[in-house]
Amino acid sequence: MAKIDDYNFAGKKAIVRVDFNVPLDENGHVTDDTRIRGALPTLKKILADGGSLILMSHMGKPKGKVNEKFSLAQIREDVAKALGTDVKFAPDCANADEAVKDLKPGEVLLLENLRFYPEEEGKPVGIDKNDPAYDEAKKAMKESQKKFAEKLASYADVYVNDAFGTAHRKHASTAVVADYFKPEDKMLGYLMEKEVQAVDNILKDIKRPFTAIMGGSKVSTKIGIIENLMDKVDNLILCGGMTYTFAKAQGGKIGDSICEDDKLDLALDIIKKAKEKGVNLILGTDCVAADAFSNDANTMVCPANDIPDGWEGLDAGPETRKVFAEAIIPSKTILWNGPAGVFEFDNFTAGSRAIADAIVKATENGAFSLVGGGDSVACVNKFGVADSVSYVSTGGGALLEAIEGKVLPGVAAVKE
Ligand code: AMP
Repeated sequence: MAKIDDYNFAGKKAIVRVDFNVPLDENGHVTDDTRIRGALPTLKKILADGGSLILMSHMGKPKGKVNEKFSLAQIREDVAKALGTDVKFAPDCANADEAVKDLKPGEVLLLENLRFYPEEEGKPVGIDKNDPAYDEAKKAMKESQKKFAEKLASYADVYVNDAFGTAHRKHASTAVVADYFKPEDKMLGYLMEKEVQAVDNILKDIKRPFTAIMGGSKVSTKIGIIENLMDKVDNLILCGGMTYTFAKAQGGKIGDSICEDDKLDLALDIIKKAKEKGVNLILGTDCVAADAFSNDANTMVCPANDIPDGWEGLDAGPETRKVFAEAIIPSKTILWNGPAGVFEFDNFTAGSRAIADAIVKATENGAFSLVGGGDSVACVNKFGVADSVSYVSTGGGALLEAIEGKVLPGVAAVKE
């Protein structure tokens, strides 16, 4: 696989898959340009070398149809401002030959939303999965997806994928397009390289002890990751809403706490596997219970396995926070995904805050700490510690799939 640092883009047209799926307000103004700024190192390197840029991205879910609400024209000025140079716009991503032909070194062309074409995602439209003709329609769509990808590829000499957020999708622009470039002319951008390196630090280059902290509301959505991590971690902290599924599975009384009644056996199985593999499984012993799901509810601290009816556990208790911190602080590799309580309510942030503080301390002591998954990222931002951990991942679903041990199509495509 080619490496962006070693590549000289002088005189080349580079087509770059970026993730410019930024949030807009009702007037179409960008409310958070983090994703645009995230792509700048890659884009600036290409321009500085003397290359020209063809930028392609999706925005929102227009479901294969033109929809001005999702037009990338709305962010053109923001991209120009971030890059410090003018940005041309091609209003049809699959018919941009003229605009591309005129592109000179140092110039930038932004293509319209890729998902205005169903070929981008490659899913047949207007036909139900149960329809007998579905398989045929899917086959036909795969063929037109190849043509669409080939068209995108025809614009450029070199392909760079820097859209980690969609790396777990096998779409035309994230994977299929790579088939039309020689191995030496396709590569990951800097953001993708950093994300892939961060996952490697967690899964391959492990410094011990390794502590994973998995939280959030449900065990069912995290099971793939928990199972993959079980072979790797020394300490596994399970917190947040899933605490109560474990407590109930072990015969505890959990009042009105969130619980997946159909996952009690799964919880017992995780406890058993942890024992077999010598993993130190740490579950909350006490909790902050509330008499309503509200920031203003009455609260009390009680055992996580002895919660009265009418009360629900919404955060980790003081004893639990202490035990979590004691495991985290001496760790040398740390992964955090999912909050320890309903952190959106200010009165139930203590558990997540204790985890964040302990991770910051461990990082100061030389640990590699990766925080990823929407809600834990929101936590470190809320607590103002995003700059005090080693890496905050931008790629929710992609990160989780990578940690589950799955090969990301967006990464695999440029490696082949
Ligand atoms: P997830 O999407 O599974 O990562 O879960 C994140 C959500 O879990 C956040 O919105 C939290 O408010 C929620 N959560 C964390 N702890 C609890 C709890 N004890 N009871 C209910 N929801 C919780």
